Amino acid sequence: MSDTLASKMYGKTVLVSGAAGFLGSHMCDRLLAEGAQVVALDNFITGHRRNIAHLQGNPSFRFVEHDITKPIDVGPVDYVINMASPASPKDYLEFPIETLDVGSFGTRNMLEIAARYNAKFLTTSTSECYGDPQVHPQVESYWGNVNPVGPRSCYDESKRFSEAITMAYHRSRGVRTSIARIFNTFGPRMKLNDGRVVPAFVDQALQGIPLTLFGDGSQTRSFCYVSDLIDGLYRLLLSTEVYPVNLGNPNEITIREFAEVITKLTETATGVVCKPLPEDDPRQRQPDITKARQVLGWEPKVDLTTGLLATIRYFQDLEGSSA
Ligand code: UDP
Repeated sequence: MSDTLASKMYGKTVLVSGAAGFLGSHMCDRLLAEGAQVVALDNFITGHRRNIAHLQGNPSFRFVEHDITKPIDVGPVDYVINMASPASPKDYLEFPIETLDVGSFGTRNMLEIAARYNAKFLTTSTSECYGDPQVHPQVESYWGNVNPVGPRSCYDESKRFSEAITMAYHRSRGVRTSIARIFNTFGPRMKLNDGRVVPAFVDQALQGIPLTLFGDGSQTRSFCYVSDLIDGLYRLLLSTEVYPVNLGNPNEITIREFAEVITKLTETATGVVCKPLPEDDPRQRQPDITKARQVLGWEPKVDLTTGLLATIRYFQDLEGSSA
């Protein structure tokens, strides 16, 4: 439990959509640890029951299987955290219409709940709002470079719409809202087969096969460990900041270097195999977190090696238990 923010959650009810996802399930854990009552929604399109199995039987946790593109009323709540969406490129390419629906109809339904019960609303947006950015590092005031008709547009435009409708509810209905722009995040409970670089590389290394390097590996990303990200979201939930806030780790690395880190930490030597770079794959990505530092007093604490070792252990256990 955090020292300064702890008491804020006692007696409060928080609605979390996307609660069985990677980030959603960690958010539920944090809220429960802070003393909140959690009402959790998920339709398992990309989330997994395993991620919330440890919470079943907890009297402070209520799970409702529900697709938030359909309206729902779970009763009075104090906070709404909107985290439901396919989020890996592989998932949203498989479910492009569902991705657009959840960002639009889904976000609107969650905003309606916040408006009805005068609850504070937090939506989880993405660094993909910046598209293939021409400003580096990315600062919140940058409007982005998104291809509106490319393969990633279903995700990027869904999230951009979710930001727009959040601002509209704030301006016209007076809902208290916050918007997080989440950069690449990793940790236990990521899906092994969601195609993202962290589970893909770790799985390949553990299986003893070459790591699939897309393009020449010179593109960059900046990886944030899940506990840091959740702490940033929690602080933003309790803040009065209305405009988007970047949350991520500014420690930028090329994907080729990242493959070397995974190889070293898994103590393997399988090498890499080059595959074509996916269309519209951003060349570089690094959050400018000046605003989060100033407004939330937040910055990441967990270094890449520590976070990756915990993640590798999780995948080892998972593969061991399903063997
Ligand atoms: N990537 C890769 N090999 C993989 C999966 C991803 O080289 O097996 C690259 C991908 O092209 C991108 C980066 O790793 O440049 C991060 O991809 P990810 O799918 O994790 O997330 P993104 O940041 O693109 O949303």
